[in-house]
Amino acid sequence: MAFETSEIGAAAGVLRAGGLVAFPTETVYGLGANAEDPAAVARVFRTKGRPPSHPLIVHLGDADHLGEWAADITKTARVLAEHFWPGPLTLVLRRGRRVPPEATGGLETVAVRVPDHPVALALLSAFGGGVAAPSANRFGSVSPTTADHVRAELGDAVDFVLDGGPCDVGVESTIVDVTGEVPGILRPGGVAREALEAALGRPLAVPESSPVRVPGQHPSHYAPRARVVLVEPENVVAEAELAQGLGHRVGVLLPPAFAGARVEAHAVVAVPAASAEYARGLYVFLRDFDRRGCDLIVASLPAEEGLGLAIANRLRRAAGPRDPG
Ligand code: AMP
Ligand code: MG
Repeated sequence: MAFETSEIGAAAGVLRAGGLVAFPTETVYGLGANAEDPAAVARVFRTKGRPPSHPLIVHLGDADHLGEWAADITKTARVLAEHFWPGPLTLVLRRGRRVPPEATGGLETVAVRVPDHPVALALLSAFGGGVAAPSANRFGSVSPTTADHVRAELGDAVDFVLDGGPCDVGVESTIVDVTGEVPGILRPGGVAREALEAALGRPLAVPESSPVRVPGQHPSHYAPRARVVLVEPENVVAEAELAQGLGHRVGVLLPPAFAGARVEAHAVVAVPAASAEYARGLYVFLRDFDRRGCDLIVASLPAEEGLGLAIANRLRRAAGPRDPG
């Protein structure tokens, strides 16, 4: 414990000095910088290879000073913060006075969240300010859910990696825009739509593509190296075997209803029936297919309830059109 405390102190020092710290959250690992230091924030964009117009999430240790980081905090925002923070929910609000435009891609709105992870909360508390952090991966690729993923992908480009073990949720936070009269989900994630609707007592729209610039809405986001093909659950085995027969090295995400099936393919993962468990494993499965040299992944979409909505969203985007080069 003493060892961990000194590590937290060192990591907070790195943030104060303008450095980058990769840290665990309950969703995925983040690549953090002092949100109030434009040069440090610029380094986050360079390290990820992410266009500086794509905003970052500002992570806070608690909601007590939210008014310094966001303005015009609506009743809806307060209800959601009270229900779900700390937790995998990001609120988009009007930008507060402590947030420089560099952290929001020049937008007048800011995304804020209090993560539910002991190491993240210890870091935020030791640092004392806001930490701007996107996922700790190269732009467009699969988010890291272990410290090893971060080290493998970013290596020396990060000044400090805090290892908090594997992430419990496994997919990114749910992002809700609470700037307007009617709240809307910008990106499905770790808090289920049903839970948000129960807390608010109203249905929430999930637009297919949002008018706000949300990097997670880029079609080829969250993509492994292998091409991803989505088919109906009952066609997964046949599609995989066809492609394998044509010479592909096929990775298969086998739907729960076909868990016992024998498949002639390069790598087969029987996906967990429980959506929380599937979400926890999703990025690990995709990374393993890449590591094992698969060039094609055959999968189907889960039912879009609970965390299934976020899983389906990530699989669709992984299967989406790729940027040339
Ligand atoms: P990541 O994409 O996982 O690297 O983390 C940052 C995410 O925060 C982005 O994908 C955006 O979707 C989201 N975000 C940050 N700021 C805003 C904002 N002002 N409006 C909408 N989404 C935002
Ligand atoms: Mg990301």
